[in-house]
This record gives sequence, structure tokens and C-alpha cells, in this order.
Amino acid sequence: MMEKRVGFIGLGIMGMPMARNLIKAGFEVVVYNRTASKAEQMVSEGAKKADSPKELAKESPVVITIVSDTPDVESVILGENGIIEGIKAGSVVIDMSTISPQATQKIAARLREKRVPMLDAPVSGGEQGAVNGTLSIMVGGDAKIFKRCQAILEAMGKNIIHVGSNGMGQTVKLVNQILVAGTLNAVVEALVFAQKSGVDLEKAIDAVKGGAAASWQLTNLAPRIIRRDFQPGFMIDLMQKDLNLVMGAAEAVKTPLPVTSFIHQMYYSLQSAGEGKSGTQALVKAMEHLTGVKVGQGK
Ligand code: NAP
Repeated sequence: MMEKRVGFIGLGIMGMPMARNLIKAGFEVVVYNRTASKAEQMVSEGAKKADSPKELAKESPVVITIVSDTPDVESVILGENGIIEGIKAGSVVIDMSTISPQATQKIAARLREKRVPMLDAPVSGGEQGAVNGTLSIMVGGDAKIFKRCQAILEAMGKNIIHVGSNGMGQTVKLVNQILVAGTLNAVVEALVFAQKSGVDLEKAIDAVKGGAAASWQLTNLAPRIIRRDFQPGFMIDLMQKDLNLVMGAAEAVKTPLPVTSFIHQMYYSLQSAGEGKSGTQALVKAMEHLTGVKVGQGK
């Protein structure tokens, strides 16, 4: 079964373009946003506006949430005037925020008591992926519910993989963040070593970027580091939000993450130094502080 009407909560950097893509794909979209002006903007683009998550849920067979952090998802779904107060049995909630896998399982259990299935469907690909409808989406929840919602997810993303039961989508998103942070750390360490050794940095990257060391971070972030361009694609504050989730999830399964926890601490040092709004590539500044080596131009 494919629903034509979709409720959409959270019109931020990611949510706004995702809701637009649903409208473009022909869905009737009902929106709610805490700051009402953003919802009004979507009305001018063809959406209908609801006054609360509860009201939105009453008229939506599928409700998507993409808000900031775990307590925000809990508030929008389970809080006063939340989705749970309005939603009908058999409707589906899809949470696309990046939040705690353990909290996700608890929220899903609360919704299940109302016979409302939930999918956790966090995304990767950033604002550009949201605008272009090319997000990677990792989905946890019942396989039949995933199938039922697939056309909706396909309006927002490209690589859409059902990875397991509730919480597993969020867990795979954290796997993604461990890989991203660790790879960037290796890029930074390699650049500091190359700089101290007197190698031409651009030639060094050209020589290795197509081989076994290839990565998105090396291709996209190393040139920015060399130019000392620390504008955010992805901000340190947001990375820390995700690394906090990683650490909590690792604690829950009693798994040490020695390298990731080192990077987490290095990012704290940068937040303490006022770099929270810089891009994650500013990790190099922490390594420069440790080594006394400055990477790139303007030595
Ligand atoms: P954002 O621009 O800060 O937008 C957050 C949205 O959530 C806003 O619509 C905000 O409403 C709403 N919100 C926050 N707390 C709320 C609450 N307690 N009650 C009701 N509404 C609330 O964030 P974003 O970049 O779109 O990120 C959203 C989610 O996607 C996060 O979980 C993030 O980790 C994840 N994500 C982001 C990226 C990225 O590159 N930005 C990439 C992948 C995943 P207001 O308008 O009223 O503030």
C-alpha cells in the first residue's frame, strides 16, 4: 500500500528540502514546525499546515520527524500535544533525525502499544543530498512497514537500505560517523607528517588519493585543510552531538572505541577554543597544537 498523504515535522536545513522533494514527487504534505514561519513558507509551496504534532498526526497515515536530538524527538512524538496523542492505529511514524538507538527502541515500544509501527531512518549526505534527493537512508524496523514506506523514502534518497529491527538504522548511522571521524583523523595525521617531512602536500595527495588510501575525506577535506579553509560543510558541534551518541551506544554494548574517543576529546579541545562552528576539517588545528607543525599555506 502506498500512502498519498505524509505529515512532516521539522523544517530545518535537512527537513525543508526533504519536504519539498515529497511535494515534487506528488505527495500531499502536511507540515508542522516549532517556528511557524517556516511552515508558512511551505504552505506557499503547496503544503498544508498543522498547528501541533498531535493535529498533524490525526490526519496523516505516515508521519516523518527530522528534528535535532534525542530529547527533541521524544518531545515531538511522546510529549504534550505530541504525535502519540493524535495518531491512529495502523499509521506509521518514520524518524529521520540522528538520535540514540536505545532511545529509539523505547520510543518504538511506546508507539507499538498504540499499534503504531515506527521506522528509524536516519540519513547521510548533508544539505546537498537533501536538496538533490540523493540521501543515503539506513532503515530500522519491520520489513513489511519498510516496503510500505519505500516510495516515500525514494522521494528523498537514493541508497535506501533496510538494515534490521528498530534502532539498527540509528546504529548504522553511528557506524557511518565512526568511519567518517576515524578517516578524517588519519588524513590530518598524514598531513602533519607530510608537512614536517618537507613533502609537497598537493603532490602527496595526488599520488595517494586513487589507491588503497582513497576516501571522501582525503579528496574533499585535505585540499581545504591545505588552503586553511575551515568553513563548515559539517560543523564540529554537530559531529560532537553524533560522537556523544556513538559513545553512549558503545557504552550500552560495552565496546571500547579507543580511536573514536580520542577524536571526541580532540573535538572537545576545539570546542573549548571556540571552534565549534568550524568545519570538522579543523581537527588539524588540534593536531597542530600538539605537534607545533602548521599544515599548508601561510606557515
Ligand atoms: P536544524 O537545521 O537545526 O533543524 C532542526 C529542526 O528541528 C528545526 O525545524 C527545529 O525547529 C526542529 N526542532 C528542534 N528541536 C525541536 C523541539 N524540541 N520541538 C520541535 N521542533 C524542534 O537541523 P538539521 O541540520 O536539519 O538536522 C536535523 C537532523 O538531521 C539532526 O538529527 C541531524 O543530526 C541530522 N542530520 C543533519 C545533517 C546535516 O548535514 N545538517 C546530515 C545528516 C543528518 P525550529 O525551526 O523551531 O528551530
